[in-house]
Amino acid sequence: MDFKYRYTKEQEEFRQEVRAWLETNIPENMKAPVDRLDLTEEHYRFWREMHQTLAAKGWLYPTYPKEYGGGGLSGEHETIILEEFERVRVVPDFTNTYIFSTLLVWATEEQKQKFLAPILKSEKVAFQNFTEPNAGSDLASLQSRAVRDGDDWIITGQKTFISGHGDPDYLFGPIVTDTDAPRHRNLGYFMIPCPSPGLELSRLNLLTGHDQSFIFMDNVRVPGDHLIGGELEGWQVTQTTLEIEHGGRGVASPRDEAMENLLKFVKETRRNGEKLGDDPIIQQQTMTAYIESHINELFAQRNYWMYQARQEMTYHGSQSACFRKSFRIRNADRARNIMGMYSLLGVDEPRAPFGGQPEVYQRSSLTGAHPGGTIEIQKVIMSRRLGISRTRERAAATPSTAGVQGV
Ligand SMILES: Cc1cc2nc3c(=O)[nH]c(=O)nc-3n(C[C@H](O)[C@H](O)[C@H](O)COP(=O)(O)OP(=O)(O)OC[C@H]3O[C@@H](n4cnc5c(N)ncnc54)[C@H](O)[C@@H]3O)c2cc1C
Repeated sequence: MDFKYRYTKEQEEFRQEVRAWLETNIPENMKAPVDRLDLTEEHYRFWREMHQTLAAKGWLYPTYPKEYGGGGLSGEHETIILEEFERVRVVPDFTNTYIFSTLLVWATEEQKQKFLAPILKSEKVAFQNFTEPNAGSDLASLQSRAVRDGDDWIITGQKTFISGHGDPDYLFGPIVTDTDAPRHRNLGYFMIPCPSPGLELSRLNLLTGHDQSFIFMDNVRVPGDHLIGGELEGWQVTQTTLEIEHGGRGVASPRDEAMENLLKFVKETRRNGEKLGDDPIIQQQTMTAYIESHINELFAQRNYWMYQARQEMTYHGSQSACFRKSFRIRNADRARNIMGMYSLLGVDEPRAPFGGQPEVYQRSSLTGAHPGGTIEIQKVIMSRRLGISRTRERAAATPSTAGVQGV
């Protein structure tokens, strides 16, 4: 049986249109640098504008509803666009995209126009404001507090590891609204405007760069219409964000550049006159890496297909996240074994293979195990959903399962 996907004539023409436009409009010096640390202020300014142009063409968020600034296109179009974006190294939008599904499911019509539309058009940028110093894996232990003041809320507390480059327009996430209520029933979900008096961002310095921040909130005033969902419904709203972050939307076009480079390295490198792949141990390690990389792609594509087809999902998102996070660490180990010291040469080293990408991978495979829940937490979620845990749970509502038009 032939499993190859065949695009229609219209889709192939669309690909040519996207490719030609990108080749004309993305200058070589503005392409995404190999190391995110090398993203300059000039890159940032160029891409803030370019993202708005791409959004206006319907290519930045192809499948989201047109009425809110999305492209109104199909999953096949999204796949084509992402493949073409990767060819010319488009810098991804600076917003945290998990907010889209959250607003589509939980926001009122006015809130969708107010928050979702400008973010989908890339005019505004939002960061995910969840983790606190004492609430990471155990997110329900949040302590940041929102107190009613007339129609407004006054928020005080601290968040940490909040990802995002540049300055956000909103910070979205759960805050305690009722200290007397039990866990999971004591939260509201807020779009906190930035900048705001009393709000401060302080950059962290992690292995992969400076794109994470501490957030300090000292009596920050937030208007009442910035609360998404009911004032004690924040946990459910949060679960929609996390469902997508855990992999519940899948990936239209998963690509593993590290694996492509490793394969190329083994094919093209000779040691002591012998091809690297002639060594049976290197051959075994490379093929194990290749198989795991392919399994990861299949999980991501399966979830994307299930999501687009509005199929009921349970453990699938976390299964994909768990595998992705763990195989990347294993493949980074394998790349070190196979490439040796070359895998540790950074982008500035003339002898670094593939412009230093393998070294960036060594670092990002480690930090990548944390955002959205660690490997262990993905297993906890899977076991709850497969019915082998003390507690049982179902998947949270997403635009796919909640019947929202445009996903
Ligand atoms: C690069 C990066 C980007 C991030 N971006 C964001 C962001 O944009 N927004 C945001 O809100 N947060 C963000 N985070 C934070 C991230 O969500 C947390 O780091 C993560 O949830 C883990 O929390 P923690 O670091 O407090 O670790 P802890 O919760 O303290 O966990 C420590 C260790 O204990 C293990 N553990 C904890 N509980 C259990 C359990 N029940 N069973 C088994 N093992 C367990 C964990 O797996 C981990 O290995 C980011 C983190 C990183 C590193």
